[in-house]
Amino acid sequence: MAIWIFLVIHWQASVFFQSVYLHRYGAHGQYTMSKSWERVFHLLTWLTNGSSYLSPRAYAIMHRMHHAYSDTERDPHSPVQEPNLFKMMMKTARIYGAIKRGKFDVEPRFDDGRYPSWPLIDRTQEGWAWPIGWGVAYTLFYMAFATSYWQFLLLPIHWMMGPIHGAIVNYFGHKLGYRNFKSSDDSRNTLPFDVLTMGELFQNNHHKFGQSPNFAARWFEIDPAYVALRVLATIRIVDLTGSQQMRWSPPITPSLMPREGL
Ligand SMILES: [Zn+2]
Ligand SMILES: [Zn+2]
Repeated sequence: MAIWIFLVIHWQASVFFQSVYLHRYGAHGQYTMSKSWERVFHLLTWLTNGSSYLSPRAYAIMHRMHHAYSDTERDPHSPVQEPNLFKMMMKTARIYGAIKRGKFDVEPRFDDGRYPSWPLIDRTQEGWAWPIGWGVAYTLFYMAFATSYWQFLLLPIHWMMGPIHGAIVNYFGHKLGYRNFKSSDDSRNTLPFDVLTMGELFQNNHHKFGQSPNFAARWFEIDPAYVALRVLATIRIVDLTGSQQMRWSPPITPSLMPREGL
C-alpha cells in the first residue's frame, strides 16, 4: 500500500510543481508571488521533481521556443515533425542539454532573464550525482516498503518521472483529442478533466491563450492546477489579479498576448 501511495503522491506532486512553477510561473509569468514564496516553490519543485529536476532557465527557453515554433521544424518537441515518441524525446533531450551547457544558439527574446533562478539548487541538475542520489533514495524506499518483487518494476517511473510527464503532454497534447480553437499548430485538448497531468493536456486552449493561468476554456473542462492556484490566491500565496484570463467568448484579441510570440 505504501508503494502505491508513494507513486501517486510523487506523480501528482511532481507534475503539479512542474506545471505551476516551471511552466506557468517560470516560462510564462502568468501570475506573481513574493520572492520568499518563489523560493518555497523552487525548493518544492526540486524536492518533488527529484531525479528529473529541470533548470528553470533551460526549461523556460525551450518552452518559449515550443510556443513560438509550435509543430514546425524548430519546435523542440513536435509529434508532427518526428516519426515516433522516442525520437521526439531524444530531440527534446538534445536541445535541453545544449541549452543547459550554453551550446545552443538561443534567440535573445527567449532568454530575457524573466525566469526564476537559484544557483545553489539549479546546479544540482548539472552532473549525475544528484539524479543518481535521488534514484537511490527511491530504491531504498521500495526496499523498505515493497510487499512483492514485481513492485520494483515500478521504479523506472520514479527515475524517469519528468520525461514521462513530458512525453505524455508533448506527444499526446499535439496528437490526440479535440480542438476548441483553430490554430496553425496541431495542439489538442486530450482530456476534459485532466487529473493525469494537472491540466497540461489542454494544449489547444493553452496555445491559444498562452498567458492565461487557467488552461480550461469551456464549461465542462476542469484544470486542477488552476483550481489549486485559485485556492493559493485566496490565502494570498500567489497573486492572480494581473493575469490574463482566457474567455471562451468573445474570441481572443491580440491584447491578451502581451509577450509577443509566447
Ligand atoms: Zn504545446
Ligand atoms: Zn506554455
